[in-house]
Amino acid sequence: MTLSALRVMVVEDHGFQRRMALRLLAELDVEHVQEAADGNAALTMLEQLLQPPDVVLVDLDMPGMDGIEFIGHVAQRRLARGVALVSALDPALLNTVQTMARAYGLRVLGSVEKPLTSDKLQAVLLRYEDTLHVDADDDEADVSVEDARAALAGGEIVPWFQPQAEFGNGKVVGVEALARWQRPDGHIVRPLHFIHVLEREGLAAALTDCMLEQACAWKRRWEGDDLRLKLSVNVSPTTLQDPAAADHYQQIVRDHGVDPADVVLEVTESSLMTDPARGLAVLARLRLKGFGLSIDDFGTGYSSLAQLSQVPFTELKIDQGFVSGAPQQPRKRAVIEASLDLARKLQLDTVAEGVETVEEWQMLASLGCTMAQGYLIAQPVPGEELPAMIDRWRRPEH
Ligand code: C2E
Ligand code: MG
Ligand code: MG
Repeated sequence: MTLSALRVMVVEDHGFQRRMALRLLAELDVEHVQEAADGNAALTMLEQLLQPPDVVLVDLDMPGMDGIEFIGHVAQRRLARGVALVSALDPALLNTVQTMARAYGLRVLGSVEKPLTSDKLQAVLLRYEDTLHVDADDDEADVSVEDARAALAGGEIVPWFQPQAEFGNGKVVGVEALARWQRPDGHIVRPLHFIHVLEREGLAAALTDCMLEQACAWKRRWEGDDLRLKLSVNVSPTTLQDPAAADHYQQIVRDHGVDPADVVLEVTESSLMTDPARGLAVLARLRLKGFGLSIDDFGTGYSSLAQLSQVPFTELKIDQGFVSGAPQQPRKRAVIEASLDLARKLQLDTVAEGVETVEEWQMLASLGCTMAQGYLIAQPVPGEELPAMIDRWRRPEH
């Protein structure tokens, strides 16, 4: 899609700035443009339109109905496909509003700091297509219970692997196993579309078993090619409620000739919330048997530091939400620094998730993070493609 096909509405109370936005849109060849001087007028116009705009460019700071309230109405009544925020306000506040809009289910293209320029406007509008892409993927959201169950039973759910590289020397030392549903028609379905279905149906433990078993088998195959890697496997929260889980996982890895010390089980903070006492008992026993334990998506859950300090974790994974854009965003950097500091004091290894750029790599390296995982190194790939993928990777200069 070129920008000329986009339908854009500008909502801005300030006359000069509104005209400026219209002029810049014209320069970018955007033909279908509407304008409104306040939230109420914009809502009235939107309700009368036959075709909703693709993007509403909204000023946050307006008298009367502010941009935050306006976005709430747009989302609830589905009056536009997406929004982009325009503001001279603190980037941290813009971030909050973006998160809010996404939680409402709106497609958020991003925010533009005032003053508007042609480059900034173009950059944010060009994201429209990327967000379309994400939504296309979301169309698979209604996976049926029967399909998911059959996929698991029929061996269609397999691990793909994403490398983890040490910041110190760039060497790939481990991989995370990520579930993929390989449909017979060749279609690959990502876990967000089926894991919750399996978990709801009481198949969480079966998924973890299936992933752990296949991942161990792959580890042994790579070892045959002289590639030694640690394995990280995600564990569903309910698995931690089964007192027999630790013995069971030990049995699985042993059956494959894998040492538990070479396996890291990733648990999310929220999985500790269900029944902490039971969960702690299982985690303690896993640790006793030598498994590594990782806190996944650190910083996104609501557990207290006191709770976390009681779990015998060996590794902390910094969530990609903090990593992405951290070199430009002091608040994200502050969260990363605090997380790394905590990890150092608790003697945990640290993995930064979602490292996509050289700048992010350099920043995390300079802050003393142990390992990186992310598209900069490689996307998750099937087991047979992993060795070649690792060969291609070159660490950035420090
Ligand atoms: P996670 O464990 O936090 O895994 C990291 C996710 O980030 C993966 O998404 C990975 O593909 C993605 N990712 C990695 N590097 C980058 C990057 O540079 N940029 C971006 N934007 N994304 C990156 P994926 O594979 O879709 O998995 C999503 C989540 O599904 C996982 O988050 C995990 O919570 C869950 N999951 C995946 N496999 C399993 C499994 O076998 N069992 C359970 N219980 N959960 C799983
Ligand atoms: Mg994980
Ligand atoms: Mg994660």
